[in-house]
Amino acid sequence: MTSKKLGAVAASIRSLRHVASPVTSQIGNSAVVLAYHDIVPNGSETIEYMVDEDTFISQIETVRTLGYTFRTLTDLSADLLADRPVAGCAAIVFDDALVGVYDIAMPYLDAHKIPWTLLPVTDRLGVTPAWWPGANRTMTREEVMEAVDAGADLCAHTTTHISLPDVDADAAFNELVRSREALSELSGREVVDLCYPFGHQDAQIREMAKRAGYRTGWTFTNGRCSSGDDPFKLKRMAMRNDVGELHWLVTLLRPKVSWPPVQDLKRGSL
Ligand SMILES: [Zn+2]
Repeated sequence: MTSKKLGAVAASIRSLRHVASPVTSQIGNSAVVLAYHDIVPNGSETIEYMVDEDTFISQIETVRTLGYTFRTLTDLSADLLADRPVAGCAAIVFDDALVGVYDIAMPYLDAHKIPWTLLPVTDRLGVTPAWWPGANRTMTREEVMEAVDAGADLCAHTTTHISLPDVDADAAFNELVRSREALSELSGREVVDLCYPFGHQDAQIREMAKRAGYRTGWTFTNGRCSSGDDPFKLKRMAMRNDVGELHWLVTLLRPKVSWPPVQDLKRGSL
């Protein structure tokens, strides 16, 4: 579907909002978290989870057209835990803090005053990420600090991007605590929300995250989130370059109950 046609579809949906409740309220008191990785220049070869600039902007524009309000992951997490309404809320999150986020996404989000969240891997700043062959480098500490100064929210993603259920308990706990402390220092506020690397987690890791000072744990299982969810099994949406515009629109309107449950995951479990 061309963006013109999508615009027409979105415009008709928007006009419906004036005669009924907002579209986003029609699918229950739930929110969406858009889990991006790197944003790359148009025409670049994209590997899995890389999204090019035009596609990124188009995806965000669709979310805006549907009437969603953007929140940081920190604010959305607080609302979920306090049982405040989250209908029509969306959070934009960038896993791994890759350099394209600094170069491309940050100026766009800043220009449109859209709140956003960055997930730096605290001992892997300014390096080529070993966990993602073919990826560009991660942001340096200075770039992360610049993002924080520009208003970016920080949430945790461990210190070395390990698969938490695949290492011994002491190592996993250490990653959780140290990344939380490092990001709290960088951002000047207590960081208490975590996205599990690779989405890997199980009952032991969820319990450990709680002990390490977190209040939420976000997975990499697609779906919506609401207040009744287990706060350590929250769902996000994995953003990709090859999602067509109509598919993305339908995804945003898909009811929460229709998404599959979060499973325990570790290396080799899929
Ligand atoms: Zn990651």
